[in-house]
Amino acid sequence: MAVYSLPSESGREAGGILLGSYRGPHVDVVACTGPIALDRRGVFFFDRQDPGHQEIAMRYWQCSGGRVTCVGEWHTHPADEAIPSRVDRATWRDQVQTADAPRVYVIVGRKAIWCGVGLRFHAVSEAQRISDPET
Ligand SMILES: [Zn+2]
Repeated sequence: MAVYSLPSESGREAGGILLGSYRGPHVDVVACTGPIALDRRGVFFFDRQDPGHQEIAMRYWQCSGGRVTCVGEWHTHPADEAIPSRVDRATWRDQVQTADAPRVYVIVGRKAIWCGVGLRFHAVSEAQRISDPET
């Protein structure tokens, strides 16, 4: 008899959507959702199944007069590095094909963060890292 157990909380992916608005060429991210009860989470996947993400996005959209919307998504990788997987890139490629505005994608690893931007006809590419001018 095989015994199966769920990986620990820190061993499973988490994620959500990024909520924000567009200001010229800039994307202002103002909030994000986190994992919700009906999401499917595993060692190598995060499926946003819970309708709560859409409900939260709708509330932001309504309260902002249609300015704040879903501008992208984020998820974790239970690893030190944060490198997009083939599945990540294929999913993003499909999403940006129909996007009318830039989409932001963030992967959070244990010791690194990866951030990329994609737009229709342009593959998602890593965002340029700009040092804080105050430091
Ligand atoms: Zn991933």
